[in-house]
This record gives sequence, C-alpha cells and structure tokens, in this order.
Amino acid sequence: MLLTVPSFDPASLEATGSVLVLLAASRGLSRAELTEATGLSRVTLGQRLTALGTAQLVRERDDTVPSGGRPTRLLDVADDAAVILAADMGERHIRLAVTDLSPAIRHQETVDFQPGEGALAALERIAAGFERLLARGGGFVAGVGLSLPAPVDHRAGRVVGPSILHGWDDFAIGDWLRDRFDAPAVAENDVNLMTLFEHRGGERRDDAFLFVKIGTGIGSGIVTDGRLYRGAQGAAGDIGHIQFFGDDAPPLCRCGKLGCLEARAAGWALARDLRALGFEAEDARDVIALVNREVPEAIALVRGAGQAVGAALSDAVSILNPGHVAIGGTLAQAGDHLMDGIRETIRERCLPLATRDLVLTHAPTSDEACLIGAAMCVRERIFAAEGVDRFLGRYGAWMAARA
Ligand SMILES: [Zn+2]
Repeated sequence: MLLTVPSFDPASLEATGSVLVLLAASRGLSRAELTEATGLSRVTLGQRLTALGTAQLVRERDDTVPSGGRPTRLLDVADDAAVILAADMGERHIRLAVTDLSPAIRHQETVDFQPGEGALAALERIAAGFERLLARGGGFVAGVGLSLPAPVDHRAGRVVGPSILHGWDDFAIGDWLRDRFDAPAVAENDVNLMTLFEHRGGERRDDAFLFVKIGTGIGSGIVTDGRLYRGAQGAAGDIGHIQFFGDDAPPLCRCGKLGCLEARAAGWALARDLRALGFEAEDARDVIALVNREVPEAIALVRGAGQAVGAALSDAVSILNPGHVAIGGTLAQAGDHLMDGIRETIRERCLPLATRDLVLTHAPTSDEACLIGAAMCVRERIFAAEGVDRFLGRYGAWMAARA
C-alpha cells in the first residue's frame, strides 16, 4: 500500500495520547466535546487533531450532529489505521483472525489443535497462521489477543490451575506472543472475553454486568465499573464450582467435589442424567437436541438446571447488584425452559432492591464472541491512558519508516 505522507515526523504525535484515548472510549466526539473533555484551547486541540489526522489515526465520520451553527461532523479513531491479531483456542481447533480497530474481522482461518501438544507447538502454529493472514492483507500490528479455555493469570499472561491445557502453567504465553510480533499481547480466559463481547457489543452497557455461560461446563464473567473484574488471581466468576447441599446425595462434580453447580446444571451433568434414563447424550448439544424434540425428561432436567443456576446466581446478584445479567452458552438455547427457573429463583431469593430493575436476558451464541472479545481486550489496552503513548511511539516509528 502506498501512503500519501511524503515525510512523517513521529514527534508530531507527542502529547496527542489523551485525545486518542477519549476518541477510542467514545463512539465519536465533536470538536466542542473534545475541547470540553480535554480542557485544551481550540488552537492546541486543532494542532493535535491535525497530527492525528496526518498520521491517519483519526478521521471525520460521515454522520453529523447539530451544533450552534451548521451541523458538525464527529471525529473518531480510523478503524483501518492498524490491525489486531486475535486467536480463539477451543478444545480441538484454534480460530485465527486479523481484525481492524473497530474491531471487525478482516480475514480468518481455523487450524487444528490437540490439547496435549504443549504450549510452544500450539503458539508456533498460531504465529504461522497469523503470518499467513497478514500476507493476505495486514498493516501495523497494534496488538495480539489470545482466548484460552482455561483460567488465566491476566497480568502474567499464563494459564493457572487445572484445565484441559496440561503443562501450560509455566509458559509465559503473553511474553512469547509479544516478542514474536513486537506488539503488546494479552492472554485471557474465554468466558471473560465473551463477557467483554456481550457487554461492549450490547445496547445497555450497565456499569455492573454479569455474563453466565452454560454449556458443557458453566462459567461466568463479571464487569464492575465498566471493567472486567478478574479477582486477585484471575479466578473470579468461577460460579460452576460453587457447592450447595440440601439433597441426600449431592452429585459428584468433575472437579472432585460434591454438590457443585456444574454437577447439577452443566451440559455434561444433564447428559449423565439423561443416559441414566436411557437416552443417548454426551454433551450440551445432545441435551438441546432432545429439548428441541420436546422430550419431557429433557425439558424437566433443563428446568431443574435453571433453578440450580438461579440459586447460585442469587448469591452473585446479592453481592454484586448487577443491572444486567445475560445467560449464554449452548444450554441457553433451551430458552424459557431454562430462563424461567433462573428468573423465578432469583426473584425468590434476592431482596427486592437488588432485583427491582434487574434485567435478565438470553445472549444468543456467537461463534465470533471470543475472537472479537480478544480483539476488544487488546484495543482497550492500547487505547488506555497507561498504554497509549507506547502505541503512538511504535505507530509513529512504523509510519516514519514507510514515509
Ligand atoms: Zn466442581
């Protein structure tokens, strides 16, 4: 691609970070709004916007907003200024994508993955895939995001605790990706990224939000004050292994404990109960197939699962007081069969103040939730107040090298 910048001076981007942070956090701002938010004079703001525009990082949008005089155009981050590399590691496949900064997927592909093969081999395959995708159309790599089906220590960029990723615990995933692509890299648990996807992509964007994924397993993600809440070790939201008793023979969980929510309501547990009743079922998909055929035993089990999820969620609602709870994952496709039990149990158990305005919704499954969530996580990191100067430094050097 030929750029139309004959001589680009990276120094022109100094001090433009605060303007870029504001634009990235908004969905477009007018010059008047930027003047007010930054406290800069019109002249200084104009200089910084010129620098960002020359660097092709900021542009005027086509839509306008009314102002005192003629309608004014909104300014926004230029989505095609850079790309983000995103990977979503599933249990058998890894989905890879190059996104723009919005983030929307530009190119993608899927590669095979065996959990037993180890971190380095999997990361090499991911890196090779990214390079193939970049060859189809790339640009400045703003950052790399990886979604993992495991608990992740977000700060260290490492898998922690037991998971299907055996032997990954000591591997510095974030550092490896950062060094390979010379760009900031984030590794994050998949349910946290689905949570980010549901929250940022939704209409409501409540400051306090809870997402619960009910598939073959059960996990949840928490947003407080508009940000992902990860806890001290990245283990926050592990709702699937909350134990509760009250029955004579609490079921054994795959974690080894008795009476966990998963052992009562996850896809694997309902499949276990259906097999005991003589049906063929292995996972959440098989359960949903039976529900769709209106098999009464399957519907009754899903309703019971809704009540169990509602019981565990009631405690979370009492502690966190979310404005919005979204239920996703394969079992959520059972619709009201599942949602009714959740809704009724929360209403029964929580104080009215916590539930009066609580919105409970079904989040339709999106195959791209983890990929887009990973790209959103990267976007938020590079356009955060702490990260933007590093981004501008790297971007300015890249532009200058091409001018
Ligand atoms: Zn358990």
